[in-house]
Amino acid sequence: MTGVDIVYDEIHSRHDQSWSGRLGPAEGGGQLLCVACVVEMIESDDIASVRKSFALSGISGVLKCSPGALRELLKQDHRVSVRFTASLLGMLHTVEDQATLEKVDQVLVQLLLELQSELSYRFVLEDIHRQLNDQTNMKSFVPTFTFLGNLVEAVPNVAQVW
Ligand SMILES: [Zn+2]
Repeated sequence: MTGVDIVYDEIHSRHDQSWSGRLGPAEGGGQLLCVACVVEMIESDDIASVRKSFALSGISGVLKCSPGALRELLKQDHRVSVRFTASLLGMLHTVEDQATLEKVDQVLVQLLLELQSELSYRFVLEDIHRQLNDQTNMKSFVPTFTFLGNLVEAVPNVAQVW
Protein backbone atom coordinates (compact mmCIF):
# COMPACT_ATOMS: atom_id res chain seq x y z
CA MET A 1 0.00 0.00 0.00
CA THR A 2 3.00 2.31 0.02
CA GLY A 3 3.42 5.00 -2.59
CA VAL A 4 -0.27 5.88 -2.78
CA ASP A 5 -1.04 9.48 -1.85
CA ILE A 6 -3.35 9.85 1.13
CA VAL A 7 -5.16 12.95 0.03
CA TYR A 8 -8.85 13.55 -0.62
CA ASP A 9 -8.82 15.56 -3.82
CA GLU A 10 -12.28 17.12 -3.51
CA ILE A 11 -11.46 18.93 -0.26
CA HIS A 12 -7.71 19.14 -0.17
CA SER A 13 -7.49 22.59 -1.78
CA ARG A 14 -9.03 24.06 1.39
CA HIS A 15 -6.21 22.78 3.59
CA ASP A 16 -3.14 24.65 4.67
CA GLN A 17 -0.17 22.93 3.17
CA SER A 18 1.47 22.64 6.56
CA TRP A 19 -0.87 19.68 7.15
CA SER A 20 0.58 17.66 4.37
CA GLY A 21 3.96 16.23 3.90
CA ARG A 22 5.79 13.99 1.53
CA LEU A 23 6.87 10.94 3.42
CA GLY A 24 9.31 8.22 2.75
CA PRO A 25 12.69 8.29 1.08
CA ALA A 26 13.46 11.77 -0.26
CA GLU A 27 14.99 10.46 -3.46
CA GLY A 28 11.93 8.35 -4.22
CA GLY A 29 9.52 11.28 -4.05
CA GLY A 30 7.56 9.57 -1.28
CA GLN A 31 3.84 9.59 -0.78
CA LEU A 32 1.82 12.66 0.01
CA LEU A 33 -0.18 12.59 3.22
CA CYS A 34 -2.57 15.29 4.38
CA VAL A 35 -3.70 14.91 7.98
CA ALA A 36 -6.61 17.33 7.49
CA CYS A 37 -7.89 15.24 4.57
CA VAL A 38 -7.68 12.07 6.63
CA VAL A 39 -9.61 13.59 9.54
CA GLU A 40 -12.33 14.95 7.26
CA MET A 41 -12.60 11.63 5.44
CA ILE A 42 -12.94 9.73 8.70
CA GLU A 43 -15.58 12.09 10.03
CA SER A 44 -17.65 12.28 6.86
CA ASP A 45 -20.77 10.17 6.56
CA ASP A 46 -20.69 10.49 2.81
CA ILE A 47 -17.51 8.54 2.34
CA ALA A 48 -17.72 4.80 1.85
CA SER A 49 -16.13 2.74 4.57
CA VAL A 50 -14.00 0.98 1.97
CA ARG A 51 -12.41 4.33 1.15
CA LYS A 52 -11.81 5.10 4.81
CA SER A 53 -10.32 1.67 5.22
CA PHE A 54 -8.00 2.34 2.30
CA ALA A 55 -6.84 5.59 3.91
CA LEU A 56 -6.26 3.79 7.20
CA SER A 57 -4.11 1.20 5.45
CA GLY A 58 -2.08 4.06 4.03
CA ILE A 59 -1.64 5.64 7.46
CA SER A 60 -0.68 2.30 8.93
CA GLY A 61 1.91 1.89 6.18
CA VAL A 62 3.33 5.36 6.83
CA LEU A 63 3.58 4.65 10.56
CA LYS A 64 5.37 1.40 9.83
CA CYS A 65 7.70 2.53 7.06
CA SER A 66 8.44 6.15 8.01
CA PRO A 67 8.61 6.24 11.79
CA GLY A 68 8.50 9.79 13.12
CA ALA A 69 7.13 11.33 9.92
CA LEU A 70 3.56 11.61 11.12
CA ARG A 71 4.72 12.80 14.53
CA GLU A 72 6.56 15.66 12.83
CA LEU A 73 3.37 16.70 11.03
CA LEU A 74 1.15 16.38 14.09
CA LYS A 75 3.41 18.13 16.54
CA GLN A 76 2.71 21.43 14.78
CA ASP A 77 -0.56 21.64 16.64
CA HIS A 78 -1.64 19.40 19.48
CA ARG A 79 -5.31 20.04 18.68
CA VAL A 80 -4.90 18.25 15.37
CA SER A 81 -3.50 15.10 16.97
CA VAL A 82 -6.36 15.19 19.46
CA ARG A 83 -8.90 15.59 16.68
CA PHE A 84 -7.27 12.83 14.66
CA THR A 85 -7.24 10.51 17.69
CA ALA A 86 -10.84 11.44 18.55
CA SER A 87 -12.06 10.72 15.04
CA LEU A 88 -10.41 7.29 15.14
CA LEU A 89 -11.95 6.56 18.55
CA GLY A 90 -15.32 7.61 17.11
CA MET A 91 -14.93 5.05 14.33
CA LEU A 92 -14.89 2.31 16.96
CA HIS A 93 -18.58 3.12 17.47
CA THR A 94 -19.70 3.78 13.95
CA VAL A 95 -17.91 1.20 11.86
CA GLU A 96 -19.67 -2.11 11.55
CA ASP A 97 -17.36 -3.91 9.23
CA GLN A 98 -14.96 -6.12 11.18
CA ALA A 99 -11.98 -5.71 8.85
CA THR A 100 -12.19 -1.92 9.04
CA LEU A 101 -12.56 -2.05 12.81
CA GLU A 102 -9.36 -4.06 13.07
CA LYS A 103 -7.62 -1.46 10.97
CA VAL A 104 -8.88 1.38 13.19
CA ASP A 105 -7.61 -0.55 16.17
CA GLN A 106 -4.21 -1.09 14.61
CA VAL A 107 -3.80 2.53 13.51
CA LEU A 108 -4.80 3.86 16.94
CA VAL A 109 -2.23 1.68 18.72
CA GLN A 110 0.44 2.54 16.14
CA LEU A 111 -0.39 6.24 16.38
CA LEU A 112 -0.16 6.30 20.17
CA LEU A 113 3.16 4.45 20.03
CA GLU A 114 4.39 6.97 17.47
CA LEU A 115 3.27 10.03 19.40
CA GLN A 116 4.62 8.76 22.74
CA SER A 117 2.78 11.62 24.32
CA GLU A 118 1.32 11.36 27.77
CA LEU A 119 -1.27 13.91 26.76
CA SER A 120 -2.50 11.64 23.96
CA TYR A 121 -2.67 8.58 26.20
CA ARG A 122 -4.54 10.57 28.77
CA PHE A 123 -6.97 11.84 26.15
CA VAL A 124 -7.70 8.31 24.92
CA LEU A 125 -8.10 6.86 28.40
CA GLU A 126 -10.35 9.67 29.54
CA ASP A 127 -12.49 9.22 26.46
CA ILE A 128 -12.86 5.50 27.17
CA HIS A 129 -13.59 6.23 30.80
CA ARG A 130 -16.34 8.64 29.77
CA GLN A 131 -17.86 5.97 27.56
CA LEU A 132 -17.80 3.48 30.41
CA ASN A 133 -19.72 5.89 32.59
CA ASP A 134 -22.18 6.69 29.87
CA GLN A 135 -22.94 3.23 28.66
CA THR A 136 -26.43 2.60 27.46
CA ASN A 137 -25.58 -0.05 24.94
CA MET A 138 -22.83 -2.47 25.94
CA LYS A 139 -22.64 -3.86 22.44
CA SER A 140 -21.27 -0.64 20.99
CA PHE A 141 -18.55 -0.67 23.59
CA VAL A 142 -17.11 -4.02 22.51
CA PRO A 143 -14.78 -2.59 19.80
CA THR A 144 -13.49 0.00 22.26
CA PHE A 145 -12.88 -2.71 24.81
CA THR A 146 -10.96 -4.77 22.25
CA PHE A 147 -8.87 -1.72 21.40
CA LEU A 148 -8.12 -1.10 25.07
CA GLY A 149 -6.87 -4.69 25.38
CA ASN A 150 -4.58 -4.22 22.37
CA LEU A 151 -3.31 -0.93 23.73
CA VAL A 152 -2.42 -2.39 27.12
CA GLU A 153 -0.66 -5.22 25.32
CA ALA A 154 1.37 -2.80 23.16
CA VAL A 155 2.03 -0.28 25.91
CA PRO A 156 2.04 -2.16 29.24
CA ASN A 157 2.78 0.95 31.28
CA VAL A 158 -0.22 2.82 29.88
CA ALA A 159 -2.08 1.85 33.06
CA GLN A 160 0.22 4.20 34.97
CA VAL A 161 -1.16 7.14 33.03
CA TRP A 162 -4.65 6.06 33.93
ZN1 LIG B 1 -5.91 17.95 2.66
